[in-house]
Amino acid sequence: MPPFMEPFRIKSVEPIPFPTVGQRKAALDAAGYNLFRIPARAITIDLLTDSGTSAMSAAQWSAMLSGDESYAGARSFERFETVVRDLMGYREVIPVHQGRAAERIVLHELLGPGDISVSNTHFDSTRASVEAAGAQAVDLPIAAAAATPMPFGGDIDLDALVALLGGESGDRVRCVVLTITNNANGGQPVSVGNVSVVRRLCDQHGVPLFLDAARFAENAYLVITRSAGLSDTTPKEIARAIFDLADGCWASLKKDGIANIGGLIALRDEELAARCRGRLIETEGYPTYGGLAGRDLEALAQGLLEVTEPEYLRYRAESAQWFADLLERAGLPVLRPAGCHAVYVDAGQLLDHIPAAELPATALANELYLAGAVRVTELGTLVFGRPDPAGGADIPAPRELVRFALPRRVYTANHLQYVAEVAELVAAKAADIRGYRIVEQSGAMRQFTARLAPLAARANR
Ligand SMILES: *Cc1c(COP(=O)(O)O)cnc(C)c1O
Repeated sequence: MPPFMEPFRIKSVEPIPFPTVGQRKAALDAAGYNLFRIPARAITIDLLTDSGTSAMSAAQWSAMLSGDESYAGARSFERFETVVRDLMGYREVIPVHQGRAAERIVLHELLGPGDISVSNTHFDSTRASVEAAGAQAVDLPIAAAAATPMPFGGDIDLDALVALLGGESGDRVRCVVLTITNNANGGQPVSVGNVSVVRRLCDQHGVPLFLDAARFAENAYLVITRSAGLSDTTPKEIARAIFDLADGCWASLKKDGIANIGGLIALRDEELAARCRGRLIETEGYPTYGGLAGRDLEALAQGLLEVTEPEYLRYRAESAQWFADLLERAGLPVLRPAGCHAVYVDAGQLLDHIPAAELPATALANELYLAGAVRVTELGTLVFGRPDPAGGADIPAPRELVRFALPRRVYTANHLQYVAEVAELVAAKAADIRGYRIVEQSGAMRQFTARLAPLAARANR
């Protein structure tokens, strides 16, 4: 029996598809062996992402009906603004349609050619905005090589930050961005201590500190469970302590907004906020709706109240932990400690007979689909591999990971148990799994559209 219980009951349901073996084979073949191209109607359990896939509460659905769809100054904007001000403490609140819109707006105001943005790890859309502004994105994650699991694996490397800020290119640094949790680094949390030191360094060098706060509540909960002496502190208090240390934030609210669309910019600096609003009008709409409907703002305001509830966060963290244990028992090499939003598996270790160029992470993901119509994300060479500038073979990703993302409040323990049973079938035949070659690809985000072909069994080659 799982050590947790879902802290909700279900009053609206959606049937899930159960494609047959033949249908799964046909769907994967038609998709060019790329899970992004499989229609959702052919998926039983979809762990592709935790972004925009949440189940909303009855309170959110009922708030949506009272959405005020006035073009300017809607009541729904006022409710959203009040909730965000209370939660984050930033006076300037600007809604946007999703996280990358916020990043594009703020980072184009902060950065220009030759400037540097430094982060614990820029999420890929954040990096894209930094580079689109002509600036350089520098990632300083703490050393991931440590053999023992680290409680705050999301922290920024403080020594490296001191060296950068005090070094030759120090005066080119225009902002420090802490991504909480550190999505590109396994969804690991950032500690309050780390943020405090970064704040001091930013003050010494006159550089602003911003948070990419997509999973601020999960970060706060993990801080409480992984620190001594914080058991009487609420997630809301920890989240606020971290917001208090920064000059502002942006966030994709498709994650801890527990809604299907939305994002925000929240700042202290009135003048920067005014410039952001000017830019927002070009692409998102009037500053009190930012590309969202009034009803979306209602769902987000209510979601932001629910996401810091300790019972919800406890379930979120404990179900991820339990799922990680199940996958490990099923024979998959799981990365530890598990965060909240996903469990990561090392496909390179499980399928060490498949070289990186033959996409072991893709191979594992595709086998999970074939075995039980489970969809996960490959985070290996298909996503992070790069063509060699010298014209040689592609440069492989540093690690061949597969991510089992956990949509919020969507799947029960039984669903996760099913995924673990599918994983066990796949792990048992690991030695027979074959790699892939890319037959068609385009652009920097090749994982979304690439077509692949399975390779013949290695024994025959
Ligand atoms: C999802 C995400 C973004 C981008 O947000 P979208 O809503 O997908 O545009 C940026 N940063 C982090 C940390 C994210 O997880």
